[in-house]
Amino acid sequence: MDNLWRDDEAKTFERSDLAMRVYTSRLLGSNDDLVLHGGGNTSVKSTLTNIFGEPEDILFVKGSGWDLKTIEEPGFSPARLDVLKRLASLPSMTDTEMARELKASMTDPSAPSPSVEAILHALIPFKYVDHTHTDAVVAISNSPDGEVLLKKLYGDSVLILPYLMPGFVLAKQVFDQTRNLDWTKLEGIILMHHGLFTFSDSAKESYSKMIDLVSRSEDYLRSINAFDGLAESDYQPQPEDYLQLAQCRRAASLHFGAPMVTSWKRDQKSVGFSSIDNVNDIATRGPVTPDHTLQTKRIAAILDESPAEGVDRFAAEYLDYFDRNDNGELTCLDPAPRYAVWKGRGVLVFGANIKRYGVVSDIVEHTIRAVQWGEALGGWKTLSEAEIFELEYWELEQAKLKLAPARNEYDGKVVAVTGAASGIGKACVEVFASKGAAIIALDINPDISTLFENPGITGIACDITSEESIQSAVEQGIAAFGGLDILVSNAGSFPPSMTVEDMDSDLLEKTMQLNFNGHVSMIRACTPFLKLGFDPSVILMSSKNVPAPGPGAGAYSAAKSALTQIGRVAAMELGGYGIRVNMLHPNAVFDTGIWTEEVLTKRAENYGLTVNEYKTNNILKTEITSHDVADLVLTICGNSFSKTTGAQVPIDGGNDRVI
Ligand SMILES: [Zn+2]
Repeated sequence: MDNLWRDDEAKTFERSDLAMRVYTSRLLGSNDDLVLHGGGNTSVKSTLTNIFGEPEDILFVKGSGWDLKTIEEPGFSPARLDVLKRLASLPSMTDTEMARELKASMTDPSAPSPSVEAILHALIPFKYVDHTHTDAVVAISNSPDGEVLLKKLYGDSVLILPYLMPGFVLAKQVFDQTRNLDWTKLEGIILMHHGLFTFSDSAKESYSKMIDLVSRSEDYLRSINAFDGLAESDYQPQPEDYLQLAQCRRAASLHFGAPMVTSWKRDQKSVGFSSIDNVNDIATRGPVTPDHTLQTKRIAAILDESPAEGVDRFAAEYLDYFDRNDNGELTCLDPAPRYAVWKGRGVLVFGANIKRYGVVSDIVEHTIRAVQWGEALGGWKTLSEAEIFELEYWELEQAKLKLAPARNEYDGKVVAVTGAASGIGKACVEVFASKGAAIIALDINPDISTLFENPGITGIACDITSEESIQSAVEQGIAAFGGLDILVSNAGSFPPSMTVEDMDSDLLEKTMQLNFNGHVSMIRACTPFLKLGFDPSVILMSSKNVPAPGPGAGAYSAAKSALTQIGRVAAMELGGYGIRVNMLHPNAVFDTGIWTEEVLTKRAENYGLTVNEYKTNNILKTEITSHDVADLVLTICGNSFSKTTGAQVPIDGGNDRVI
C-alpha cells in the first residue's frame, strides 16, 4: 500500500495539531481499501483555552456525519479528555447514555456528535490515533486461522483483541486490557472482524504505521495468490434479462416500502463472483466488517432463473432472522435486500436513492474481493448471525428510526428523457435530478454520455428514429437503474417553413419520423417497464401548434397532432396498468441554443416587434422558459395530477386561439 505522505503538502498543515490531523485523515480517507463512506475515525489530543482563560486538554475526534476523505477542521468534535477518561472507568453504561455523555463532554455544543469510538481514542496515550477498517487485515481476521495468522504476521508489536461491539463495552475492553501495558512496544491494535488502530505523537508516524501494518497483510495475501485469484467472467445479456431485472426492482421496492434504484453490475469481477460454484454459500456467510451491515444488510440475496422470487425469498428469510434474534422490544427494519448475486449474470445493488446506491455498490465491490481472499485463506468466516444482528439492531441505530427519514420526492424513481442534451429535455433532466430521481438521459448527440457529471444521470446516445437504437438505449438505462417510472418523450425538431402546396415528401416523412413515429417507438419500448413502475407516467411533448397551427408549419403541426391523438389512445389503453399519459402544448421556448440573438432579432422584425415583445407575445405578456416547461412536467408527474390522464395542458402564456 502506497504511503501518500508528502513533506511539501504536509507543510501547509503545520499551523496546528488539528490542521495536521485533517491532512493525514484525508490521506487515510483517500484510500478505499482502508475506509469506505464514513468508515474509520481519527483523533488528536491538543489543548484549547476556555472562556476563563484556562487551558483544557481536548480530544478532537471525528464527528458523526463526516467522511475522512473530505473532512475539515469543523468535522472534528472537541471533547474534554478528562471527562472521556473518567467515563472509561465507569463499570457500565448503556450506549445511549454514552452517546449523551459524549455530547455533553464537548466544549462546543454546535460541533457534530463525537464518534462512538471517542472513549477508546481517549484511552490511547498518544497524540495522534488512526483507525481504519482495512480490507486486508479484516479479511485475514475473517478466516479460520485468522488470529493465529495475524499473530504470526505481527508478533508482539500488535495487540489483537477479540471482537466486541463498538461503543462502551469495546472501550472498556481496551481499558482493561491495556492497563498494565508498555505502550511504547506497541505499533497497533487489531480488533478482530473490525479494524486496526495505530498511534504516535507524530501524525506522520501514526499514518505511516497504518500503511506499514496494512502492507504486511497485503503482502501476505499476495504471497498466497489471493489478489490474482479473483474470479472473472463475461455474460452476454439476453433480452428477457431486463424485464426480470425490473421485476426484481419492483419486488425489492414493495418490500422496502418505496421505489428503489436497482443497478445491474455486470463487469467481469461481478459476473465472475456470481459464477463461483458455491456462491450461494459464500455470499451468505456475512459482511467484511459488521458496520457494513447497516448499508448492505448481513448477506446477499441469491437469485437464479426466477430472480424476483429470490428477492421475495430473501425478504421472508430476513423476517425469520429478525424473529430468531429479536428480544421482543425491537423494531424490524424493512426486509428488502441491498444487494443480490444473480447467478452467472452478476450482482444487483438496491438503493433507496442514488447516494445510498453508490455507498452499497462500493461496499459490495470490496466485499466480493474480501470473501474470495477469505476463501483463499481456508474459508470465509465472519461473525455469528447473533453478533451481526446485535450491531444491526444496536440501540443507537434503533433510536435513529424514530427520526423521520429525509426522503426527496423522487428518491428511488427512474425517469427517461429523450432530447435530453438541450432545451426542455435538459431542463427536465435537471429538475427531476434535483428531486432525487435517477435519470436515463437520451439524445442523438453523442456528447450526452459525458454531459452530466452526476452519478444519478446516465447519458446514452440514442436515435429515436431507429428501433435498434431505442432498444439498446432502453436496455442500457434499465441495467443502470433497474426499471422505469416516468417517460418524458420530448425529442423533436422544427423543420424549415413550407406550405402544403410546396411540401417536400422527404421532409414530411422525416418530420413524421422524428416528431411522431419516434415517440410511438419510444412508448412501445418503455411500456413493459412502465407496467412494473411506481406511479408510472408518460409525458408527450406536443406543441401549441396542435390547437393553434400556423401557416408554413404543416408537417410539424400534423406530426404533433398525430402524436397528441396517439397519446389519447395510449391513455385509454394503458390506464388499466395505472400508467398515465398526458400531453403538453408549449409555445416556443427561447432559452435554447437555436434562438441566438441574431435569429431572435430577425424573427421579431418579421412581425414588427422588438425582441422582448416577440418573446412575450401572449396574453400574460410573459416569456416561457425551458425550466417553466420542466416544472410543469414535474407537476403533472406528481401527486396533484395523479388522477389525470389523457389531458392536453398548454403552457404558452395564454393564446386566444388556444383558449
Ligand atoms: Zn471502527
